[in-house]
Amino acid sequence: MTCWNFSAGPAVLPTAVLKKVQDELLSYQGSGMSAMELSHRSSLFQHIITDAENALRTLMNIPDNYHVLFLQGGASTQFASIPMNLLKDKKAGYVISGMWGKKAFEEANKLFPDRTVVIADSTPNNHTEIPEIHIENETEFDYIHITTNNTIEGTAYHTIPKFKQTLLVADMSSNILSADYDISDFGLIYAGAQKNIGPAGLTIVIVREDLIGKNSEHIPTMLDYQTYVKSKSLYNTPSTFPIYVSKLVFDWLLELGGVPKMLEMNQEKATLLYSTISESNLYTSPVHPDFRSLTNIPFVTGDTELDKKFVTEAEKAGFVNLKGHRSVGGMRASLYNAFPLEGVQALVTFMKEFEQREGLAT
Ligand SMILES: *Cc1c(COP(=O)(O)O)cnc(C)c1O
Repeated sequence: MTCWNFSAGPAVLPTAVLKKVQDELLSYQGSGMSAMELSHRSSLFQHIITDAENALRTLMNIPDNYHVLFLQGGASTQFASIPMNLLKDKKAGYVISGMWGKKAFEEANKLFPDRTVVIADSTPNNHTEIPEIHIENETEFDYIHITTNNTIEGTAYHTIPKFKQTLLVADMSSNILSADYDISDFGLIYAGAQKNIGPAGLTIVIVREDLIGKNSEHIPTMLDYQTYVKSKSLYNTPSTFPIYVSKLVFDWLLELGGVPKMLEMNQEKATLLYSTISESNLYTSPVHPDFRSLTNIPFVTGDTELDKKFVTEAEKAGFVNLKGHRSVGGMRASLYNAFPLEGVQALVTFMKEFEQREGLAT
């Protein structure tokens, strides 16, 4: 039976990439060794990590004055690394647009309680909208932290706020490479790989070169960006296999037509699901139409028992991981880059049939 994996992360990977991994699994480029078994100091691995960086630079149009770092510890480790590296003598402003933004704030606040402030918060409306930022004086801030796509709540920024006198830092874990951003709008971008890039175990940081290296003596070596700049992400053993698979995903993306093409494909997928939701009498989206995510789409029936039934029946029919996050409930379909249109077409057919069966269609 076909399995459509709607997981929010670790998430679906392109079949073509998995096949390539399979083909090369026992002997990477005729070396007689798996990519997993290569020394991270070997020239074969050097090529993998260099190619991965170059492909990502091409895909995201990353200017030369930005470093690309391949790290571990997940996006969650960045919640601490970012203030340690970027908070100088001013304040850090955090936008709480969902659970991840809140966690990012709390971690920074634990380290620098006097200098971290919440500058916008959508908690009062259950994060169904992106909150507006109100700050009087940009120059009081070393940086402003946002989450471009809220994985759990299903909201996203469709216009990136711009600042002239402070830096924008963005957690892009769940929509990196699916929206066309101008890197120069940001001081730092970070993302855990397991949603829209590759396997879990790799975290990517893109940071403007002039922002780092100033606090080095006070930062643990493994959390200091300078460590990875100097060593080209090879200070210690990096997550070699996830880097290799991510490189294959980048190549796959480039071959398909890059980020603009991905955006177009993601819009088509998301539109199909959102229009099915809005045309139905059963399903609703909890998210304000202006802020709807293209990659994580929650929907509910309004009846928790019926939601449960939907999830159970969907799973039997091959639609897996549709259960909403425990904090939100209902359903959530994650439609990352590697998720095919056919899977969304199959899902909306299932949704309509379910609605019919429950006698709720008109
Ligand atoms: C998943 C996710 C995280 C946490 O990522 P880890 O790599 O598991 O630490 C942080 N931020 C966002 C937006 C996410 O979607």
